[in-house]
Amino acid sequence: MVVELISVGTELLLGNIVNTNANYLSQKCAELGYSLYYQITVGDNDGRVCEVLKSALERSDIIILTGGLGPTQDDMTKEAVAKVFGKDLVMDEPSRKRIEEYFQFRFKGNPLNNAVTQNNWKQALKIDGCIVLDNDNGTAPGYIVEENGKAAILLPGPPSEMIPMFETHIIPYLQKKQNKVFISSMVKICGIGESKAETDILDLIEQQTNPTIAPYAKSGEVHFRVTAAADHEEEGRNLIAPVVEELYRRFGDNIYSTEESETLESVVVKLLQEHNLTVATAESCTGGLLTGRLVNVPGVSGLLKEGFITYSNEAKMKYLGVKEETLKNYGAVSEQTAREMAVGVAAASGSNTALAITGIAGPEGGTPEKPVGLVYIGCLVNGETTVREYRLKGNRAKVRELSVIFALDLLRRRLLLL
Ligand code: ATP
Repeated sequence: MVVELISVGTELLLGNIVNTNANYLSQKCAELGYSLYYQITVGDNDGRVCEVLKSALERSDIIILTGGLGPTQDDMTKEAVAKVFGKDLVMDEPSRKRIEEYFQFRFKGNPLNNAVTQNNWKQALKIDGCIVLDNDNGTAPGYIVEENGKAAILLPGPPSEMIPMFETHIIPYLQKKQNKVFISSMVKICGIGESKAETDILDLIEQQTNPTIAPYAKSGEVHFRVTAAADHEEEGRNLIAPVVEELYRRFGDNIYSTEESETLESVVVKLLQEHNLTVATAESCTGGLLTGRLVNVPGVSGLLKEGFITYSNEAKMKYLGVKEETLKNYGAVSEQTAREMAVGVAAASGSNTALAITGIAGPEGGTPEKPVGLVYIGCLVNGETTVREYRLKGNRAKVRELSVIFALDLLRRRLLLL
């Protein structure tokens, strides 16, 4: 089945807001096994919305429209859809009541704001014969209109309203329409570049029918979503298992997880917990980003000892005990300094693992011998320190972000050896 997205909003065309709805919806439709060939963005213009909807209905089965369901004059998605489907707008009594109650509750005690203005009642009108979807986070209901095997789904624009409505009402609706279950596994890889990873499994990607393998490039990581369509969950799991096994055969320890919910930092924290270890960090060019990533993980408080931001040479000496001669002879960005930082932070905090990062994030500060992007990461586990040199590409933000990813990955790999 083919889905098409129509994002309604002049703000989107002007670039005033980013179309995160389309991003979210296209990912969800792929997960649900729907094909999506077109996404259209159109301004708040009745004629143009009708025009794009008509062409979408010619080539796709289900059209999802977001935005333009509000109370104001320029909100006209519902009116346009009714026109194209040849339907009337009629009063929906439950919606009328909900709007009334919403205003009473929301503006209770504020006499200036508790009146429902005339244009709010516009949101109580529904397309004759449609399914009305409750909006628990705002006043604009959503709608499903079905006619001649085609469907239009109308959702409010604000993501805080659109996403809960999609998850509560539309996912079950789309699942039912497909008559299949879709089971997927996200194979998450760190330490191999996107093009190499894809080349390594090109034969699998080219042969794929069911399950399918879809690559998702992320900064410093590559993810492959393996999705199977099946009659029931167990069959789906049995279909994806051999493909995931084959990916493990090819990528080995470069795979850090196959769980959607797991992140690189959560996997590191899980490994630390399994081995009953603590961690401490010493950061120079990343200025706290690494510690911030670790703190993303609930439960890290049980094992994160301390995090030092030692940007200056003085701080590296004062808090971590890095020797003055080391800094003088080899420089702050050097294998020797990274090693002393890792050893120093482990000693200062009493931690049995430690990560230290020192590098040149740019744009200034690079030399021919030590260019921008040169980063040393020190990793101490139970008294043994490894230092790796990285030559990272990208601007300051990218170099800092990649440094954090590679530091987490280095610790993960050391922990796997225990
Ligand atoms: P409301 O009831 O709030 O008027 P609506 O359905 O009429 O909702 P719009 O008026 O089109 O929606 O948009 C309201 C706000 O929702 C926008 O200002 C924007 O912040 C957000 N929004 C709309 N469309 C998108 C989109 N495609 N992606 C992300 N945000 C969006």
